[in-house]
Amino acid sequence: MSQFSIAAQSPFSSQLILALSKGRIFEDTLPLLEAAGITVLENPETSRKLILATNDPNVRVIIVRASDVPTYVQHGAADFGVAGKDVLLEHGGEGLYQPIDLSIAKCRMSVAVNAGFDYEKAVRQGARLRVATKFVNTAREHFAAKGVHVDLIKLYGSMELAPIVGLSDAIVDVVSTGSTLRANNLVEVEEIMDISSRLVVNQAALKLKRERLQPILEAFERASKLNQ
Ligand code: AMP
Repeated sequence: MSQFSIAAQSPFSSQLILALSKGRIFEDTLPLLEAAGITVLENPETSRKLILATNDPNVRVIIVRASDVPTYVQHGAADFGVAGKDVLLEHGGEGLYQPIDLSIAKCRMSVAVNAGFDYEKAVRQGARLRVATKFVNTAREHFAAKGVHVDLIKLYGSMELAPIVGLSDAIVDVVSTGSTLRANNLVEVEEIMDISSRLVVNQAALKLKRERLQPILEAFERASKLNQ
């Protein structure tokens, strides 16, 4: 088999493919992999490779965009993956088994506005708010539950720019330290939910590769308790 045809074509394959995104999720997942005896042999920040070898010839890591992790796992192109609750809520979770909250890459989903914009007053007066976000499903549900009328503007990145240049009145984005908001003169006016990353497993892989997956899932679960 060529190194590029690694997807789970054979349900009896002993190969396991883990889908991760670069950055915080990759870095925070490394100690969990170590706890399962798995060391990733390449660094996605310095390597251009999208398929990374590990010390276990039967386990490989694919590097995909954070919002694509659930899609790769849902379709069985990866057996398991790590994705933020923000991403999973937008995806919908179809075809995914979500056994563990790994308590990594913690942040919160919040509403933010330009400093000086009176959000409370706009909401009280029943104004129709223009809200820019990547997380349209979560934002729609949040404002619907509050009875606030919104026009959602879908963006794919740099949400912080939208209120500054007048594209929107507010944004819904993930906030960690708050320094990106501060640097752009934005203020957090409402916290929607706490976010952390979860392990997601392809439902067929869970049944057909249980013997290989189970010890890894158990090691992840034990190690993730240390993050709580
Ligand atoms: P901060 O300045 O620390 O509040 O980080 C905010 C920026 O980093 C925003 O642009 C977010 O999109 C991104 N960010 C922070 N934490 C996370 C996370 N856990 N998952 C995804 N994006 C994040």
